[in-house]
Amino acid sequence: MKAVTWHGKRDIRVEEVSDPFIKEPTDAVIRVTTTAICGSDLHLYELMGPFLNEGDILGHETMGVVEEVGADVAHIEPGDRVVIPFNISCGHCDMCGRGLFAQCDTTQVRDRGMGAALFGYTSLYGAVPGGQAEYLRVPQAQFGPIKVPDGPPDERFVYLSDVLPTAWQAVRYADIPDVGTVAVFGLGPIGQMCARIAKHLGHWVVGIDGVPERLEMARRHGVRVVDASEVDDVPGAVRELTGGRGPDSVIDAVGMEAHGSPVAKITQTITGLLPDMIAAPLMTTAGVDRMAALHQCIDTVRRGGTISISGVYGGMADPMPMLRMFDKGVTLRMGQAHVRRWTNDLLPLVVDESDPLGVMDLATHRLPLEQAPHGYEIFQKKQDGAIKVLLDPAP
Ligand code: NAD
Ligand code: ZN
Repeated sequence: MKAVTWHGKRDIRVEEVSDPFIKEPTDAVIRVTTTAICGSDLHLYELMGPFLNEGDILGHETMGVVEEVGADVAHIEPGDRVVIPFNISCGHCDMCGRGLFAQCDTTQVRDRGMGAALFGYTSLYGAVPGGQAEYLRVPQAQFGPIKVPDGPPDERFVYLSDVLPTAWQAVRYADIPDVGTVAVFGLGPIGQMCARIAKHLGHWVVGIDGVPERLEMARRHGVRVVDASEVDDVPGAVRELTGGRGPDSVIDAVGMEAHGSPVAKITQTITGLLPDMIAAPLMTTAGVDRMAALHQCIDTVRRGGTISISGVYGGMADPMPMLRMFDKGVTLRMGQAHVRRWTNDLLPLVVDESDPLGVMDLATHRLPLEQAPHGYEIFQKKQDGAIKVLLDPAP
């Protein structure tokens, strides 16, 4: 089959690889009908080389049609239309029982000290082949796959794999008081959906980014915006919009943005040449630059407010402004989305004809899988109006 494979920094290719097959009775194999490129894939594309091997198959936002199931998989059968959560969880361990699906005891990558295995996301997360491919083997398929109805286009459902539950969790974790105020830093796909969900739940929302098309998309959905490329003091500008105090809650939908910073570039070049265990702590020296958005969030939130971090941070010793955080008495919540915990809340919203979250207005590109390298490039460089890029293995 064809698959999107990693070969080095900003070097991904579409190659012939062997077809996946059922290995465990709890597996399923699906034929992929839509897969997407996520902001998290940009971390692999740019930064996380030390944790990837040449030829690794990328991708963790996937939906398709069930081809085959193992003997222990009962809730889906060949022909069913399914969305695959990006984290792999068993559904029956202690962690899953608490709704902490991203910490599943069964799939935790213990030898690396990491949480639940993820599709297409480095050796840190189990080196599981990803879904930017024609077919995907789905472990723990007795629990993970979400059955969705036939009929509506894939765009209605594919974001259940990651974008929607991530944004939903970010808003829940932001603990916004009733009719409260929230600032969303970063208006990529995750930030767009955080802003729309918070609005849908009745809150006042301001979104911050520096990319014109992303600001425009947020405006189109009724979100007040601050253009970070035009304002020197973003936290000050957001505070001003909230009576000088700052919003009740802030969501960081940026994560590590290493691109462009000279310190980050040098560190990445050096770490790319080293074995994992030495490279990982060294990567943190780029942390100062990578954490710009989080520092702005800490500055922006009102005293006693909550910061909800959905953006992925990767350094192991990133410096934090503890005095400022302690003095302001902020609450910090973060983590990978526990996808299956939120999908029952989200499913009715995506099947609703009136499209309350505007899922049909997020994808800017639908490209054949073969054009994945181009898709990654425009998504990373924010060219050609790219906000969400979908890939189609069988256009
Ligand atoms: P993206 O790269 O498209 O979006 C990031 C946006 O942040 C860009 O529009 C960029 O212009 C903007 N930005 C950069 N620095 C900024 C700053 N200082 N202030 C305001 N905006 C700034 O990616 P995405 O797909 O929207 O994902 C966003 C983050 O969420 C990524 O870090 C991704 O890894 C993470 N993520 C986390 C989970 C999870 O489970 N927690 C799931 C999916 C994605
Ligand atoms: Zn993702």
